[in-house]
Amino acid sequence: MTTPSPPRSSPGVLPSVDAIQVARSSLLKTLPGEGLGAEHIEAHLRNDIVPGLNRPSESSHYYGFVIGGVAPAARTADYLVTETDQNVGVHLPKETIATEVEDRALHMVCELLDLHPRDWPHRTFTTGATASNVLGLAVGREHIIQKVAAHSSSVGRAISVADIGLHKAMKWAGISDVHILTTVAHSSLRKAASIVGLGRSAVIDVGRPDQPHRFDLSYLRDLLSTADTASIVVVSCAEINTGFFATDGADMVKIRALCDQYGAWLHVDAAFGLLARALPQTKDYASLNAGVAGLQLADSITGDAHKLLNVPYDCGIFLSRYLATGVNVFQNTNAAYLKPASSETTTSTARDIPSPLNIGIENSRRFRALPVYASLTAYGRIWYRDMLERQIRLARCIAESILESNEFVLLPNDIKMTRAERLGRVYIIVLFRAKDDSLNDALVQRINGSRKIYVSGTQWDGKPAARFAIATWKVDVERDLPVIKEELTNAVRRAV
Ligand SMILES: *Cc1c(COP(=O)(O)O)cnc(C)c1O
Repeated sequence: MTTPSPPRSSPGVLPSVDAIQVARSSLLKTLPGEGLGAEHIEAHLRNDIVPGLNRPSESSHYYGFVIGGVAPAARTADYLVTETDQNVGVHLPKETIATEVEDRALHMVCELLDLHPRDWPHRTFTTGATASNVLGLAVGREHIIQKVAAHSSSVGRAISVADIGLHKAMKWAGISDVHILTTVAHSSLRKAASIVGLGRSAVIDVGRPDQPHRFDLSYLRDLLSTADTASIVVVSCAEINTGFFATDGADMVKIRALCDQYGAWLHVDAAFGLLARALPQTKDYASLNAGVAGLQLADSITGDAHKLLNVPYDCGIFLSRYLATGVNVFQNTNAAYLKPASSETTTSTARDIPSPLNIGIENSRRFRALPVYASLTAYGRIWYRDMLERQIRLARCIAESILESNEFVLLPNDIKMTRAERLGRVYIIVLFRAKDDSLNDALVQRINGSRKIYVSGTQWDGKPAARFAIATWKVDVERDLPVIKEELTNAVRRAV
């Protein structure tokens, strides 16, 4: 087998403070009139700059943000992307295979996630989940306002935000507000709301008081039925602090029905939750299986490839059911020079591929499909599933040792569950804090102090907490767990 297994040892996680200082003082101050030469600069980059980078995906002991690693086949493909400098903006089937590779890669992503490619005709690679959320809100906004206008007798004509802008479209459609209804949203959702002109304050949390991740369905219905208001519902799949999923299959069915009843768009932010669709349907994963059940009921889905698919930065995934809406929002009108070449002699599959520049933000685009295509085909479905199972096993072992420890508490701890249920809910994230509150302000510093492992800090219930996120293909439970346990023990004793 040529599939890579995790390396025996893992490098430390951060450069030394000295290395960063050396890099900083080596930075050239001004633009030279006469260049210093490529050779000289290559040495500068390798010797000064690179040692000052934190390179989180290099070490399997980096558990900070959900970074993911880089699978070797994806890395090689990414070098080729740079070498060939292929732009993937226009579908030119007689000139380049690029758009067909992109389409095939997206097709395989759908297969991996058990989504039927035919249901997701608006599919594209983005720069990341944030950009995919922007796409989701942009097409959702277009769809819901068009829908309200179509049902309103006073409008009498088709209305498109893409053509006349949000302000006029809402006015003409008789809408005074657009709601984005969600639970435990990722911060990028508010950013996306700002970018598409709906505003951060449009995002309303409709979580249950007793279980903030889950939708309060009657509150959701109340807000959906608000007069003169159109809505986008966003499902967090999964939440970045806890790894908890906002829905199960039954919730998704109910939320879909409510969205249909009130003409709302249903978007799922599954940046890193998406790969849970590749897990086997077993008792161990029942809670995770439920968390991604019903995703196929969404109108649009955000995914990240640079997280769990382990391709290099940057690469996000966007899927939507409504190609015409996507083209309406993103098309480059009046740019005759960007029209696809006539495709009489190409196959029907090649003909069906929309030009990426008409269905996404960028016009010129990096060939970010190639590493995805390479990694999915080099390693296959089983390798990805095994990787995710290793990540989950490590997360659950960490959670278990936190549950057993006298020093730490596993979060959230206010939801009533048996120990087995609690562990069964752990995906790739472990949120915790010290029992001794006086340790918590500096807990992350204490844990990261030796630079052997790296966790990130966050807030939970308004108080500091720490978090493991396990996202690299290099994870190896037997190798990594003892290191983690030792560092957690040391952290409590370490002076800061
Ligand atoms: C990471 C993440 C994002 C943002 O992803 P980027 O790739 O950093 O843009 C959005 N939503 C969720 C749920 C995430 O985990």
